[in-house]
Amino acid sequence: MTLPRLFKTEALVLRHRPLAEADRLVTLLTPRYGKLEVKAKGVRRAKSRMGGHLQPLTRVLVQLAQGRTRYVVAGCQALEGFPSLRADLDRLTLALYLCELADRLLVPGVEAQMPYAYLLESLRHLEEGRKPNLWARRLELALLRYSGYGPELQRCLACGRSLGPEGGAFSPLAGGLLCLPCGQGAAPISGPALRALSLLEDASAAELARLDFPPSVEHELEAHLRAYIVHVLEGQANTLDFLDKLRHVPLISGQR
Ligand SMILES: [Zn+2]
Repeated sequence: MTLPRLFKTEALVLRHRPLAEADRLVTLLTPRYGKLEVKAKGVRRAKSRMGGHLQPLTRVLVQLAQGRTRYVVAGCQALEGFPSLRADLDRLTLALYLCELADRLLVPGVEAQMPYAYLLESLRHLEEGRKPNLWARRLELALLRYSGYGPELQRCLACGRSLGPEGGAFSPLAGGLLCLPCGQGAAPISGPALRALSLLEDASAAELARLDFPPSVEHELEAHLRAYIVHVLEGQANTLDFLDKLRHVPLISGQR
């Protein structure tokens, strides 16, 4: 995709890392131009106003100018900052994981209207604390599908039989679903979890907002999608290690 020399775009800040003394490399997700890694000059100085806006989990309006090797941020305005999400370590870590996943699964410079809309929608639901896990699973599936790694969810990949309430097996290595006879040795998946996966893919956002899965199904979905994503990424997302540690911190006696 050929980009204009100077343009304005809305973007979600996915991550940043230090560059030279006071600069940063910032990874942005934009609807029209996809994922872009741009340079933000001087933003690590205490007085930089722009630095405050170019933080992960911020929706911004940026002006980008073509530099010698990459685009440089010429102006930036914060549009949305998800303050309640930032104040809750669990939801914050989950949101950062979703940004990391988008960063790792999406290819730079390919338009990304759909993943952008899905990520923004998920962050807004996380901000409001509504079913964070359900929206996380939906985004995982959408990002996998968009980047060409979507798992097969309807038919056995070995014999082609369509699967229903009896459930089957889910194999990252095979690329998704197997029936029980073909999937011996692979992790079993229950009928309700299978149905939930299809719903997560097909339901509109409004339908999804009305859905509720039992905790056992939620756990199954999380475990299967995690195994699948570890296989696709050839390793676990860095933020997930942190999320696991958070969940396994033992409660101090008397604390609930
Ligand atoms: Zn089969």
